[in-house]
Amino acid sequence: MSTAGPLPDPSARAPRANGVATTPGLVCAHHHLYSSLARGMPAPPALPRSFPEILEQVWWRLDRALDPAMVRWSAMLGALEALEAGTTVILDHHSSPSCIEGSLDLVAEACAAVGVRVRCAYEVSERHSLDEARAGLEENARFLRAGGRGFVGAHACFTLSDPMLAELAELAADLDVGVHIHVAEDRCDAEAGRRLARWARPDWLLAHCVHLDRELPGWVAHNPRSNMNNAVGYARPLRFGERVALGTDGIGADMLEEFRVAYARAREDDVTATPSAAWSWLEAGWSLAPEALEDEVVWSYAPLDPWYLAFTPGVRPVEVRVGGRTVLAGGAPVLVDAVEIRAKAAEQAERLFARL
Ligand SMILES: [Zn+2]
Repeated sequence: MSTAGPLPDPSARAPRANGVATTPGLVCAHHHLYSSLARGMPAPPALPRSFPEILEQVWWRLDRALDPAMVRWSAMLGALEALEAGTTVILDHHSSPSCIEGSLDLVAEACAAVGVRVRCAYEVSERHSLDEARAGLEENARFLRAGGRGFVGAHACFTLSDPMLAELAELAADLDVGVHIHVAEDRCDAEAGRRLARWARPDWLLAHCVHLDRELPGWVAHNPRSNMNNAVGYARPLRFGERVALGTDGIGADMLEEFRVAYARAREDDVTATPSAAWSWLEAGWSLAPEALEDEVVWSYAPLDPWYLAFTPGVRPVEVRVGGRTVLAGGAPVLVDAVEIRAKAAEQAERLFARL
C-alpha cells in the first residue's frame, strides 16, 4: 500500500498500521553540514549567556578550526544521517573561514558520494575581516559559475555592511539564484527586515525569522529545535503563510523528528495548534525544492498521517531512491559504508576538538 505525492489530509485518514507507505524525499530547508562533528565538543572557555555569545564562543571557534578533511567528513556524516532519515535534499549553509576556496566542492562531493542532493551556499560574513567576506563571495561565485547548484550564502545582517549586502544581492541576481541568509534569528538582528527590504526576492531563503518585523519576499526556513536550543524565542511561523519550510539548522536532518518538535512547539504556544499545520511546513519543502519529488522513500510505518506521526517516534526509511537510483536498501546505504563514515568522522572530530 503506498501513497505517492502529497499526503492525505486528516479528514481522509484511515488506519493502515501494518502497511507501508511512500513519500517523495524529504527536504531539509536549512542545514549546516559543517557542524556534524560538533556534538560532544569541548565546553567553551566561558558559559555563553546570549545568542551572540553562543556564536562567538561555540560556532565561530568551531568553523574557524575546520580544515578540508574535517569539512569533507563532517559533510559525509551529515549526508549519511540525512539519507538514513529519508531526507534527499539538503539546503546547506557552509562556513569554514580557514579553508574557504573549494569548500563548497567538498560539501557537494560528499553528498554526491552518499547519494543525496544538496544546494550549497558559502556563508559570507565580515565578522573577521573584509578580505574573508570577499573570499566567501568569490567561493559562491566560483561554485555557482562552474555549474554547482545552490544559493549565494550570507551569514546575517548583523555581520554584514550595507555595501556587502548589495554585492551579495547583485551577485545572486546576476547568477539567477536566491540568497540563503539567517534573518532576525535573535533580537540582536532585529534590524534585518528593514535592511533586507530593498534586496529580498521570492527566490531568497530566509532562515529563522524569529524577530522579523515585516513580510519579505522569499521562503522562510523554520528551525524550531535550534531556536529552542538557543533560547531566541518562537518564530510563530503561521504568520508567514504558505512559504514556510522546515530546517534543522545543523542538528541532523531527521525531518520527521523536526516535524514532531515543530508541532510540540506550536502547541506549547497555542493549545489549538494541529499536527497538520506543522506537516504543511514539511510538505512545503517539495515546493521549495521540487527535485525531491523525483525521489521516493518507502517508510517502516503507515499511515503517514500527521496525527499519527506527531506521536510516533522511530519511523524510518526502509528504501530510498534518488532520481530512480536506489541509494538506501533494507535501511542501509547502498553507495557508502556507514560504519566507515562514522569511524572517519570520529577521527576528524578528535582532530577538531584538539584544536579548540
Ligand atoms: Zn543556521
